[in-house]
Amino acid sequence: MRKIATGDMQLVRQINRAAILQIIREKGPISRVMLARLSKLTSATAFSIVEELTGMGLVKESGIGASAGGRKPMLFEFNPSAFAAVGVDLRANRLIATVTDLEAQPLAKIVHPYHGQVDGPEGARLISQAAQEAIHISGMPLDKLVGLGVSVPALIDSNSGLVVQAVNLSWEQVPLRELLREQLDIPIHIIDVSIALTVAETYFGSGRGVQNLICLNVGEGVGSGIVIGGQLYLGADGVAGEIGHTTVDEDGPRCRCGNYGCLERLVANPAIAERAIKGLKQGAISSIRDSVGGKLEEVGAQDVVKAAKLADGFAQSILIETGRYLGVGIANVVNFLNPEMVIVGGSLPQMAGELLLEPLREAVQYRSLTIPARRVRILPADLGIEASSIGAAAWAMIQAGFLAEQPWVPTEAKV
Ligand SMILES: [Zn+2]
Repeated sequence: MRKIATGDMQLVRQINRAAILQIIREKGPISRVMLARLSKLTSATAFSIVEELTGMGLVKESGIGASAGGRKPMLFEFNPSAFAAVGVDLRANRLIATVTDLEAQPLAKIVHPYHGQVDGPEGARLISQAAQEAIHISGMPLDKLVGLGVSVPALIDSNSGLVVQAVNLSWEQVPLRELLREQLDIPIHIIDVSIALTVAETYFGSGRGVQNLICLNVGEGVGSGIVIGGQLYLGADGVAGEIGHTTVDEDGPRCRCGNYGCLERLVANPAIAERAIKGLKQGAISSIRDSVGGKLEEVGAQDVVKAAKLADGFAQSILIETGRYLGVGIANVVNFLNPEMVIVGGSLPQMAGELLLEPLREAVQYRSLTIPARRVRILPADLGIEASSIGAAAWAMIQAGFLAEQPWVPTEAKV
């Protein structure tokens, strides 16, 4: 169970086991007969998987159900505290390590400052150290940990765990998984921060049970995760969702990717700071000037949000403009994919809340076609600052077969 099986039979068994486990999570307490019916497996297969899961402590007996004519059936329910996973979310300025049970309830959390300019080996050492600290605090023995997930703002080769490029960390070609393997003897998986956020919100946050959604991560950069038909869509090379580098203003400023007027270049934290500084230098009246003691070059997105919350008109106009740009980018996706939900997460919406979401929703409604606009709900992320570390832990659970790849029961049968 700890590693992905290599043989086909083992793989089938693992998929069936994850499916049975997911049904018990969603529908438990539930009888074996009902499990076999909902999973569409034979009774013999379903029964033996339940026995195996009970033996592992993942499933426990929870009483006797009503009789459907014959003997009263034993009912089974999920035991989320049998195992745990650890997730680490690495950013340019901080690092969060979270140990969670199998329902993503945090058992321990560590937050460390991080200075973006350390090299790969030192970064790996800090990740491993934080993970081990969190594991120690959680009290979970190593053999009860299904794996470590690490979320990084980067282009990643997920097969090899190679960080191809992480601009904010100044990393290129860092073999992060290999480096971590030298220090931690549990399965290790590296994923992009926007995918981690999407996994967290889809399984445990605002997107629970929603089958078609986009989850945006707006902060130092802009990325997104795409869920179609309940499955994460990663694209041919695993890099789908780069909404930050779609064009929203052809005549806009040059982006680090080489194009002009990319969404990220207009709405990410550095862009907000840049617009504020430019406006202040041109004489805009605003409390931001005093809040940084006149040192305009030090203005950050957080100063703009703080001022906007205190009814500073200049700061509010920057957030309204930012919300509109985001709305333009999202309207394109809404028209293109017809999602049920768009989750807007990351540090900027977390700070700004409705000051950003209101103009954003207006722009989406104004620019989307009638049918998809009527359908789509635009919500903030639900899991707060540790969302990506929880998502990274959940990713480790998925890879180990403790969480189904599709976060809902894959059947319409009635219980
Ligand atoms: Zn770009």
